[in-house]
Amino acid sequence: MDCIFCKIANGEIPSKKIYEKDNFFSILDVNQKVEGHSLVISKKHFETLLDVPEDFASELLDCIKKTAIRIMKEKNADGFNVINNNFESSGQLVKHFHVHIFPRKKNDNANIFS
Ligand code: 5GP
Ligand code: ZN
Repeated sequence: MDCIFCKIANGEIPSKKIYEKDNFFSILDVNQKVEGHSLVISKKHFETLLDVPEDFASELLDCIKKTAIRIMKEKNADGFNVINNNFESSGQLVKHFHVHIFPRKKNDNANIFS
């Protein structure tokens, strides 16, 4: 299967991890919609949130929280959005489960939905 996030997860494509656990890791998005735009990605290939097992939930939450805290600190942000696209109609382009984190600053006029 030709999946870009599987290749990043298994090291075929090198990446700089922001945070890593047994089942998830986070990296910067290649297309920075805002400075510090990050992705939390599952190590296993799940297509959408619906395929992620319930017992992964606490690790996923931890990975989202730790990534958001680190990236907010690094970019001097004081807020963040968490967005997860599922299936094509929602805007999901990469068919491997991931969560976007967008660090935010007051009046930054970020357009994270474009
Ligand atoms: P989606 O629309 O599927 O929720 O978002 C996929 C995201 O993956 C996009 O924001 C896109 O910029 C990002 N992306 C696609 N390919 C790569 C890659 O090779 N490396 C990284 N770091 N991000 C990628
Ligand atoms: Zn994959």
